[in-house]
Amino acid sequence: MSIVKRDAIPEKIKREVRQYCKFGCIFCGNPLIEYHHIIPWHEVKIHSAANLTCLCSNCHTMVTKGLISNQEVIYKNKNPHNKGKDFWPSMMLGYKIFNNEDIAKLSIGVANSYFKMNPLKYNSNFYLMVPIVIDGVPLIAFTVKEGRLNLYLKLFDEYNKVVLEIINNEIVSRLDFWDITFKNNRLKINNQQNKIFIEIEFEVPYSIHIKKGFLMYNQKGYKIRSDSLVTLKNNIQFSNNEFYNFSIGIAMGEIPGNMSCAVRLP
Ligand SMILES: [Zn+2]
Repeated sequence: MSIVKRDAIPEKIKREVRQYCKFGCIFCGNPLIEYHHIIPWHEVKIHSAANLTCLCSNCHTMVTKGLISNQEVIYKNKNPHNKGKDFWPSMMLGYKIFNNEDIAKLSIGVANSYFKMNPLKYNSNFYLMVPIVIDGVPLIAFTVKEGRLNLYLKLFDEYNKVVLEIINNEIVSRLDFWDITFKNNRLKINNQQNKIFIEIEFEVPYSIHIKKGFLMYNQKGYKIRSDSLVTLKNNIQFSNNEFYNFSIGIAMGEIPGNMSCAVRLP
């Protein structure tokens, strides 16, 4: 197994590429993206928006394996999948959030409990909502950046090794066994054994529902099932709760900064 990690592309260039590709993979529109150099980096040795494009992890793997040719990439990059579409289901990520009122209407479901969150506002352009935390580390969070909804996700294995990290819809690092699909309005991340690590349903425009999940860190963790959220260690179960006006949903151990937290476990 190898960690797929890219060179540092300047943020300004990434933004330009994301905007050009309409916030999704040029082939399938999947909003969780990786950046791809059309002419390989080792040949050009420079990052330029014109030579970069957005691919999802699946299409990126196909390109790397040569199952999608470079000519197809060049052709598709001229007419990205999401171009000209105002809205399609998987656009919930990258979905436009126009103002504070839109943010206030967002409801985040975890198993069958619901959180109406009060996002932490860093500036008029960046908001943060963190449904799940362990020992001060957000495992899943949503940000509103530049008026769009983004996913933050950090998955660890039982040895505390990061196996997948997504920051603002960008797959920053991953082990190569992941299957990340975004079909209809459902994001599913599973490994080769078909074990689901997370399943999130986006109901446009104001509902995000984490339906299934297996999230762990520091040997602590949560199992999210349709009927309840269960802690791995001491089997504490949550179901059918509603919480209002917190920046963090459920936390075990420390919480980051001075954010308000709905449920705090030892
Ligand atoms: Zn794709």
